[in-house]
Amino acid sequence: MKKYPGNVFMIIAPSGAGKSSLVNALLKNDTDIELSVSCTTRPPRPGEENGREYHFISVEEFQALKDNNDLLEWAEVHGNYYGTPKTFIKQAIAAGKDVLLEIDWQGARQVRQQFSDVTDIFILPPSIEELEVRLTRRGQDEPSVIARRLLAAGGEIAHAPECEYVIINNDFDVALHELQQIIATARLRYTAQAARHEKLFAELGILDAASN
Ligand code: 5GP
Repeated sequence: MKKYPGNVFMIIAPSGAGKSSLVNALLKNDTDIELSVSCTTRPPRPGEENGREYHFISVEEFQALKDNNDLLEWAEVHGNYYGTPKTFIKQAIAAGKDVLLEIDWQGARQVRQQFSDVTDIFILPPSIEELEVRLTRRGQDEPSVIARRLLAAGGEIAHAPECEYVIINNDFDVALHELQQIIATARLRYTAQAARHEKLFAELGILDAASN
């Protein structure tokens, strides 16, 4: 599997674990990471903008992306389709940019099969009660939607063992610091450094640097 100069990071969490707030804070302070904007067939929530949180598309448009092999991965989550556009990621990591994906466990499995050295981080809520409080407080979804997501949260959490890293999002600042530490550490892996600094490694006589 080819290692690109840029790194791929995946954040996986049940809805309401505080994933998006953590990611937004991370991206504000780290201009070397680009967020992959997914396509979804779910309708936008109040305040969400097409092209910023998601590309909001129809089921037919989603189907066409799938048929054209334009998606790196895709999954049905909470009754809607979600998928990661392929071109953006490939171009970014080939250019040495790091990319962050916020996806579910099904998508994460597909990405692991396609890239070596993916760094995957699972975000857990501090308790199931707190998860419920956070989902309700958001106030952007119908009660029936919240109930469905709570039920699904258990299913998502069951896949936490598939990730290398786990953050328990109790205190936001602590969780953000932990996330930044994981990313900093992952960037220093031998394979990541060798792929990013291929020329230097070659100059120093380290052969086949990127493929080690
Ligand atoms: P939400 O609708 O709350 O923004 O996201 C619902 C779920 O879909 C979350 O678990 C989120 O991580 C997941 N999701 C968002 N985008 C993608 C994607 O591109 N692919 C996959 N597989 N899941 C996604």
